Amino acid sequence: MKNLVMVKGDKPLWPASSNVLIIRDNDGLIMIEAGCGGEEFSKSLVSKMRSQGLPPEKVHTVVLSHAHPDHMGGITTFLKISQPTVIISEIDAPSARNPELLTDSFDVLMGNEYFPELGFKDSGLNLLTLFETVSRCPMAKADPDKTIKEGDKLQLGDYLFEVIHTPGHSPGHISLVDREEKICYSGDMIGEIVAWYSPSSGGALGYLSSLEKIEKFEIEKIYPSHGDIITDKKKAIKRIRGKILEREKYILKEVENGPKQFREMVEKLFPSPNQQYFPGVQILESHLIKLEKEKKITRQNHLIYKKT
Ligand SMILES: [Zn+2]
Repeated sequence: MKNLVMVKGDKPLWPASSNVLIIRDNDGLIMIEAGCGGEEFSKSLVSKMRSQGLPPEKVHTVVLSHAHPDHMGGITTFLKISQPTVIISEIDAPSARNPELLTDSFDVLMGNEYFPELGFKDSGLNLLTLFETVSRCPMAKADPDKTIKEGDKLQLGDYLFEVIHTPGHSPGHISLVDREEKICYSGDMIGEIVAWYSPSSGGALGYLSSLEKIEKFEIEKIYPSHGDIITDKKKAIKRIRGKILEREKYILKEVENGPKQFREMVEKLFPSPNQQYFPGVQILESHLIKLEKEKKITRQNHLIYKKT
């Protein structure tokens, strides 16, 4: 694409920097995402940019798809180098200003209810400490200069992007579509991995309707925030949707022969213990909300029943 470069993260799986899309215009450079924070990640991104002739000093604008550390952690570095204008959705702006709020959109406390023996206190697992110490991808704090919402238009260099609100993984997650160029920046919604989802971030219902929204556009190229560029939109969306619905089918099959405990179901869906407290509990709850709404299950005292 003309004047557009995707600087890839080293690997798609967390903890890993998001890909960064860089667009050149008359004033310098525009970044979509700022990647992980932390010295190692930031150094790697800055040197990748330099080696591709994209000097970080020229960055005048940074657009963020959502307020998560692998996308906006790196903003600290760029605010030091070139003081860019920071743009994020109005829904995710409060979390950008005060990252402590991520505890709510991650639904962290739900984990305490089902896995009390892990001993997390009233405030639950401390996300910000975890990002910084275990993952080495610390979250940044930034006061956005501009907020955007569904339907807004963003002229970024030669591209006129339409803002698409795509919740599921983050309440204010946005994707960008340029109808003329037939390209989409999908953020975490479509890519190599299926992003986690939690009820407060939009849940399974939000994720599936976000996929439907993107699907309606005529798109030839999808730039994801994790993984390679996608040229088959239909196939990519089908794969992500299939993986989400697979979980649902599994839940329904399990309750077929009698009620199941919530915790038991988390352990079946996510056999790895380090995925159970988060995001296992939150993903299961997202599906149960959907299945209740569709009158396929009922719940009582943490027991899940198939609706007959
Ligand atoms: Zn994210």
